[in-house]
Amino acid sequence: MSKNDSLIAVLILRCLITLSLLGTTRLNSFNMFCSEVYAEARPEVFPGTRTHGSDRTMDLGLAEDHFSRPVGSFVASDIEQLKLAIEECKKLILELPEHSERQKDNVVKLIHLRLKLQELKDPEEDEPNLRVLLEHRFSKEKSKSVKQTCDKCSTIIWGLIQTWYTCTGCYYRCHSKCMNLITKPCVRSKVSHQSEYELSICPEIGLDRQDYRCAECRAQISLRGVPSEARQCDYTGQYYCSTCHWNDTAVIPARVIHNWEFESRKVCRSSMRYLALMMSRPVLRLKEINPLLFNFVEELVEIRKLRQDILLMKPYFITCKEAMEARLLLQLQDRQHFVENDDMYSLQDLIDISTGRLSCSLTEIHTTFAKHIKLDCERCQAKGFVCELCKEGDILFPFDSHTSVCHDCSAVFHRDCYFDNSTTCPRCARMTERKQDEEELDVKES
Ligand SMILES: [Zn+2]
Ligand SMILES: [Zn+2]
Ligand SMILES: [Zn+2]
Ligand SMILES: [Zn+2]
Ligand SMILES: [Zn+2]
Ligand SMILES: [Zn+2]
Repeated sequence: MSKNDSLIAVLILRCLITLSLLGTTRLNSFNMFCSEVYAEARPEVFPGTRTHGSDRTMDLGLAEDHFSRPVGSFVASDIEQLKLAIEECKKLILELPEHSERQKDNVVKLIHLRLKLQELKDPEEDEPNLRVLLEHRFSKEKSKSVKQTCDKCSTIIWGLIQTWYTCTGCYYRCHSKCMNLITKPCVRSKVSHQSEYELSICPEIGLDRQDYRCAECRAQISLRGVPSEARQCDYTGQYYCSTCHWNDTAVIPARVIHNWEFESRKVCRSSMRYLALMMSRPVLRLKEINPLLFNFVEELVEIRKLRQDILLMKPYFITCKEAMEARLLLQLQDRQHFVENDDMYSLQDLIDISTGRLSCSLTEIHTTFAKHIKLDCERCQAKGFVCELCKEGDILFPFDSHTSVCHDCSAVFHRDCYFDNSTTCPRCARMTERKQDEEELDVKES
C-alpha cells in the first residue's frame, strides 16, 4: 500500500465509522444518508435545495447519468469510467486541505463510487456462496454490517464494500480476499474428534519451549514486545502473537472445575471458538474430575438431587400416552443430557448453576413433572407405591423427598420406616424366599 493509499484508507475508515455509529449501514439508506449529510453540513452550498425535499441532489456523482440506469444495462466502459472517476476523486482528496469540508465530501463521494463499482462488478457471479476449505464450510455473508473483524488479517470487514464469508461450523469469518491465506483448520472438527477439555489450569510450558514463536502461526514473539507482543492464552497456557490472540475472554473450564471460579480470562482466537462450540456439550463428569466440589458447593447438591428425581420420573413419562402427547420431556430439550444421566455437566450448566439460573428453571420443571404424575394423571398415579413396611399413609413415589428406594427391586418406602427396619427390603426378602422355594422344588423333583 502506498502512502497515499493508506491516507485515503484512513479517511474512508473515519467516514465509515461515523456512518456506522449513526447506524446507517444499509445500502439503500446510504444514498439518502449521503445526500442528507451533505445538505445538513453545507446548506449554504445548495441554497435552494432545502425547499425541494426529496429532490435534493448533490455533487456526489449521483446525478450522473450512469448511476440512474438499471444495473443490467451496464457495459464495460461504465466500469472503466467509474475507475477513472475513482482515481480522479483520490487525487482530489490528496490535494485538498486536510480535514476540510470539501475533503470530507470527496471521501463520501469516493466511498460511493467504489460502492457502485462493486455493484457493477456483480460479486454474486465471481464469488460462490459456499466454499469449503480446511474443513471450514464458508458461506457468503449478505449482511452489510461494518462491525466485523477478519479472523485472518485482523482488520475490519467493511460489509458495505467488501465480500466476506463466515464458517457455518466454527464462525470463523474473513474477507473473501483473505480466504486463500487461511492456515487454521476448522475447530468444529476438533470438537467432534477431541471433545475433552484441557483440565489443567493454564498449563504453561514457557516461551523458550515455544522457541519464542506464536503457538499457532509461528510468528516471532517475546514478552518485551520485540519483534511483536506475546499474549498468553489462559486455556492452552501457550503464547500467541496479536494476530492469533485478540485478548478475547472466556470462562475457563479448568478453573471452574478446580476452583469453582467463573471469572473470564484472556484466550486466543481458536480457544475462544473452541470453548464457544463446546459450551453446551455435556462432557464434564464432575464426580470423577473433582468429587470434592459437592462438599462445598451447595447448589451442586441441589441440582444433583433434582436431576436424580427427573431420571426417576422419566420411566413414568415414556410409558404414559398423555405425558408423551403433552411433550413434557421436551421441556428439557436444551439440556438433553438431563434425561439421560445425572452426572454429566456442560460448562454452560456449571455457569448457570453458579448464577442460580439452573436451579430456578430446573425446580420449575421438577414441579410440573411431579404435578403430572401425582395429581393430573390417573395412569401415572396408579404406578405409585404403598410402603410395605408400615402399610399406611399416602401413595409414595420414588422422587418424593421423604422416601427411600430399594436399590435392588426399586420398591419405595417411607424413609423412616426403611431405616427402622435396618434396611431390609420386604419385597426383596419375599422374592428371595420364593426363589429358594423354587430351587428346593427343583431339587426334590430331580
Ligand atoms: Zn482479512
Ligand atoms: Zn470452521
Ligand atoms: Zn500467531
Ligand atoms: Zn401420566
Ligand atoms: Zn412406611
Ligand atoms: Zn427390594
